[in-house]
Amino acid sequence: MTRIAIYPGSFDPVTRGHEDIVRRSLHLADKVVVAVAVNLEKAPLFALEERVALLQEVLRDEPRVEVRSFDGLLAEFARDAGARMVIRGLRAVSDFDYESQMALMNRELDPELETVFLVPALHLTYLSSSLVREVARLDGDVGPFVHPVVEKALKAKYAA
Ligand code: ADP
Repeated sequence: MTRIAIYPGSFDPVTRGHEDIVRRSLHLADKVVVAVAVNLEKAPLFALEERVALLQEVLRDEPRVEVRSFDGLLAEFARDAGARMVIRGLRAVSDFDYESQMALMNRELDPELETVFLVPALHLTYLSSSLVREVARLDGDVGPFVHPVVEKALKAKYAA
């Protein structure tokens, strides 16, 4: 049986923290589907297609990873993809409230869906896409936090 995991998020844009979680999840699953959410409460900096393309570029050396976009309920998307496992990253205690609510809701919607929380490497625990966007916007060096293609894309966004 192929174990398929879904790693959902906004990835606006993908950071070294996300990459770390994807690579760790490959130890648990045979295949990881990175699911880029269409629905966002705020307008994203990167369009859906850009977020997907950046993830594909960053993860191109991982043949067991597939990047897809999704709209609607994660539980349904997971079922359609044949996944029983949702991967989420946990950084600080502050993530826990929202993440546990979401995990319980997803299991309510599909009792066979389990959420697995992974902790990133210590030096990536403080990283978030929003912080990376803010540093890039203020012309700071985001080199340590994102893949070079993402750095280039951020520069292009804020130069415009
Ligand atoms: P969302 O809007 O769904 O939170 P994000 O793209 O911000 O989307 O994050 C997707 C997932 O990746 C979440 O589970 C989040 O906790 C996790 N994540 C984000 N940054 C990091 C990081 N630096 N280390 C570990 N997990 C992270």
